[in-house]
Amino acid sequence: MTNSLLSRILKQHTGPLTRDLVQEPGDFGLGKIPSRLKPVGTTTSICGYCATGCQLKLHLDEHGHAINLSPQSGYPVNLGMACPKGWQALDPLDAPDRATTPLLRDASGTLQPCSWSTALDTFTTRLKAIREAHGHESVAFLSTGQIPFEEMALLGCLFKFGMGFLHGDANTRQCMATAVTAYKQSFGFDAPPATYADFEESDVIVLIGANLCLAHPILWQRVMRNKRQPQIIVIDPRATETAQVATQHVALKPKGDLPLLYALAHCILRDGRVDSASIARSEGFDEFQSFLQDYSPAAVAAQTGLTVVQIEALAHTVSEPGKRVSWWWTMGVNQSYEGVRTAQAIINLCLITGNIGKPGTGANSITGQCNAMGSRLFSNTTSLVGGHDFANAAHREKVAHGLGIPLESIPSEPSLAYDQILEAAETGKIKALWIVATNPFHSWIDSGRLADLREKLEFLVVQDMYHSTESAQVADLMLPAAGWGEKDGCFINSERRIGTLKVVRQAPGLALSDFRIFRLIADAWGCGASFAKWTHPEAAFQLIRDLTIDRPCDMTGIADYAMLDEHGGIQWPYPAGSAGLAQERRLFEDGIYYTDSGKAKILFSPPAPLPEPTCGEYPFTLLTGRGTSSQWHTQTRTGKSDILRKLYPEQLYVEIHPADARALDLEDGDLVQVQSRRGTLTGSAYLAPTVQRGQLFIPMHYREVNQLTHPSFDPHSRQPNYKACAVRMAKRPT
Ligand code: SF4
Repeated sequence: MTNSLLSRILKQHTGPLTRDLVQEPGDFGLGKIPSRLKPVGTTTSICGYCATGCQLKLHLDEHGHAINLSPQSGYPVNLGMACPKGWQALDPLDAPDRATTPLLRDASGTLQPCSWSTALDTFTTRLKAIREAHGHESVAFLSTGQIPFEEMALLGCLFKFGMGFLHGDANTRQCMATAVTAYKQSFGFDAPPATYADFEESDVIVLIGANLCLAHPILWQRVMRNKRQPQIIVIDPRATETAQVATQHVALKPKGDLPLLYALAHCILRDGRVDSASIARSEGFDEFQSFLQDYSPAAVAAQTGLTVVQIEALAHTVSEPGKRVSWWWTMGVNQSYEGVRTAQAIINLCLITGNIGKPGTGANSITGQCNAMGSRLFSNTTSLVGGHDFANAAHREKVAHGLGIPLESIPSEPSLAYDQILEAAETGKIKALWIVATNPFHSWIDSGRLADLREKLEFLVVQDMYHSTESAQVADLMLPAAGWGEKDGCFINSERRIGTLKVVRQAPGLALSDFRIFRLIADAWGCGASFAKWTHPEAAFQLIRDLTIDRPCDMTGIADYAMLDEHGGIQWPYPAGSAGLAQERRLFEDGIYYTDSGKAKILFSPPAPLPEPTCGEYPFTLLTGRGTSSQWHTQTRTGKSDILRKLYPEQLYVEIHPADARALDLEDGDLVQVQSRRGTLTGSAYLAPTVQRGQLFIPMHYREVNQLTHPSFDPHSRQPNYKACAVRMAKRPT
């Protein structure tokens, strides 16, 4: 790459930050503000943490730099609310461990600052050499659901169509792969049917494996706005914060969900509480009816930990004629060794009771990351960019034509999944990894394995905001990236709503937006001409938007970012000519699905045993999950906020039932060791009757927790099973 190109791109990146400013002088309700920090305008941005997709109002100084923020009152998602993470979204940008320059590991093993030219030369020279020696399957990327989908698309297209590699996946595999696969198989497309208004229009809201109060607090506020006095049922082994305020808590055994859902369907069919018209719009009903004969409440009671009476009562509640029932699930379902069939068991219940395509109904997955949905449509990992299939020749031709690239550059095979990529790295088939905006050395299941894997990699590139993540610390080359607030683009939230983010801060030092880094790499690799149209995020948006024509996710009616802002975000589908469509829309109101027949598929298979059941040596089941609304995943960003840190214990804690604690001679606050077959961690005991006897709970935010988790995976989605493994616990020896 030439120096002039580099300086031109750097100049573009660091230019004036004045786009989309709305002059709005006056008091912003922020109290007394020093005049040098007095806001002189505002702009808006979708929050960069969870998939709720709240819109934030950024208050700007005269240079267009955000000095504060508040939730946006008129946005149809959050209606003027934000959780603690959203309120503190600017804090992580000022952290002292921001990556401000490329870093290259020297001969002594130390990461040393280097120029972008050296970094890009090293990147291309090393990866080209590996490709030359070991072929196009020898390098893979691992990306994220946390960056704008324009950046995801550029990475996926660059890596596969420009650099000629095959394998790439994202940390969305850890959160959404189950829902993606379940929807694709059942509906013919990855199509979450809900709109958030359904929370407010249900008579019965079933939250399964979903702790909304902590994980999606603004969606819980939407539940609280429901004026129909709904029954709120939480199905969860723990008495979570949400279960404690629900009208009913169904405290089943860990992974008793699939047999329970089959038993509910058994009761509903036995009692004829079905919707015949909805069943007629489905395939596989007769086989399902026959399959369910073995799933009476009595047959599954022991597996679920519930009584026959409890199961019968629940079946009655979720199938009451004339009642609107909506089902919502998150990681308690998705992160399972049989998550796809569990999600489909929920879908099946909605299909047989007619609770789909109507207000207040639906089999609704709530996504985890801010742009999980964008990743699903555009990342070019498991699906071909724009909601297409790699295996479909007509799709490949359409994408090649749309992007102006040679047809032969598009592979017909899908990528390996995340776990398969890491396994290939362990066995030496994959020699190099490019990790973008994620931290698998903390977050991947059975994370201790990654230390050995690192030894086997010839080259590890990490591209991140911070040089301090566990993954960045072991990189050979570290590329400094801009974060949320320092770049443009779009996210898509759980209800399929596309919204924009804005540049409101300048990235520190030599850090660049991921989009710019990918452009630099394209030029350095020698394939920049193929990406000449990807000049900036909005140009990329228009390019990949046009690819969606005639797909279920058609968004060709969205002219530009300004239109998204004017409409309060827009849900897909939004094909050309959609002007006048309602702001909140659900799918399948016409009863037609995206399968070839237009009918939904009822899919099922017998529950599988727990991959790692408890035993005499490891008598506790370890549950993991979100521990607070103030921290996000691995705390990489939220851990940088003084305020958010104060809202959450710094030291790892282990929730244990008081009776189990007594049996182990433990008191609240005692230091304990928890051990699985894969590792040991230390924390403090937290005596909590909210966990059942024989179970422990550790929040996912602590680095050590995944040293314990068991590497088992859903066979359909390859999503890791984070939720249940066998451990033992004891007071830490003094
Ligand atoms: S983290 Fe989620 S709930 Fe909180 S403000 Fe951001 S989008 Fe809203």
